[in-house]
Amino acid sequence: MDSKVLMELADTYGARNYKPLPVVIDKAEGVWVFDVEGNKYLDFLSCYSAVSHGHRHQALVDAAIRQIGRVTVTSRAFHNSELGPFMKELCEFTGMEMALPMNSGAEAVETAIKAVRKWAYVVKGVPKYDAEIIVCSDNFHGRTTTVVSFSTEELYKEAFGPFTPGFKVIPFGDADALEKAITPNTAAFLVEPIQGEAGVVLPPDGFLARAAEICRSNNVLFVADEIQTGFGRTGRRFAVEHEGVKPDLMCLGKALGGGVYPVSAVVGSRDVLGLFVPGEHGSTFGGNPVACAVGRAALKVMLDEDLTGKSAENGQYLIEKLASIKSKHIKQIRGRGLFVGMVLHPEAGGARRFCEALMKRGLLCKETHDNVIRFAPPLVITREQIDWAISEVTEVMTTL
Ligand SMILES: *Cc1c(COP(=O)(O)O)cnc(C)c1O
Repeated sequence: MDSKVLMELADTYGARNYKPLPVVIDKAEGVWVFDVEGNKYLDFLSCYSAVSHGHRHQALVDAAIRQIGRVTVTSRAFHNSELGPFMKELCEFTGMEMALPMNSGAEAVETAIKAVRKWAYVVKGVPKYDAEIIVCSDNFHGRTTTVVSFSTEELYKEAFGPFTPGFKVIPFGDADALEKAITPNTAAFLVEPIQGEAGVVLPPDGFLARAAEICRSNNVLFVADEIQTGFGRTGRRFAVEHEGVKPDLMCLGKALGGGVYPVSAVVGSRDVLGLFVPGEHGSTFGGNPVACAVGRAALKVMLDEDLTGKSAENGQYLIEKLASIKSKHIKQIRGRGLFVGMVLHPEAGGARRFCEALMKRGLLCKETHDNVIRFAPPLVITREQIDWAISEVTEVMTTL
């Protein structure tokens, strides 16, 4: 079947909750993907960091196949031989004491919400059920009904109420507003260190450090959603490290699955995650042997290949080169590591047409909201590949 037929099938039988670029990917390797007609594209989005290791990294494919040949799914009713080592290695990698594995990012966020609420009632002494969680405007933490309850994006929630109470929104980057919003009932502050879906939005310098300090002095937990920014994406192992912050909890996902399997987790202190008792929370597939084996391999590759260091170096290069493009459409280049947003002027006519033009030239990226193009290639990308991408972007931004 050719691309046209396949897209028609998806359109006919699939709910229309996405609006993909008109390319049907059929194969992939490293930073490259191939459509059904055999055309080759450089993946400059890497599934929002889920493919940070590149497509089908050999060590990850090997780990998955090896595990599939032994045991795949057991349920948490029993121990499995990959689970303990995975959680130990994840704790060592993140500098945390405990881990709770789930599957999707949204589930990790839901798990963190439950954990901080329980902490508020059991440890902090907040009256049941008055616990409040402070979040930021333009946040993205997933798509479940509770998580969209505290979104500020109308499209994400407009049709889906009634909403879960217990959340307060402050402007992203406003530490004074955080301080003011805290009450004796505040359980936690939940924040993306850099907002990805909002368009790679960096907070003002010092915000994360000050927010962490405000949380500490008010007995409020600091929860970092590092699902997109974690594991080297921003040039540090975790984006909170840019300001020396150690969160109480971190939500992890995407790259933890090495681009081959959905793996998520919450990691954090024993004081908080240690409060769960058997039966209170769980997941059929969370912590299954394949997920654990893949997660372990993903962590090992990040260390062995210094993906964080590569992201820092190549990211700086990419940002400098993009900033030197002279185009009337570009308003700003912002980002950290290989996590970059190109903000266009409103007069540019929207980011979509540029993404479509780049696709035709063999570079895959995607607009976020109307006027931002997000560049987030696999962290294994080489200098030559980046140079090629920059020349394509330059061509499109200066001729369209
Ligand atoms: C992608 C993402 C999520 C949700 O992850 P899913 O696996 O899609 O549920 C949550 N938070 C952030 C910051 C994300 O980028």
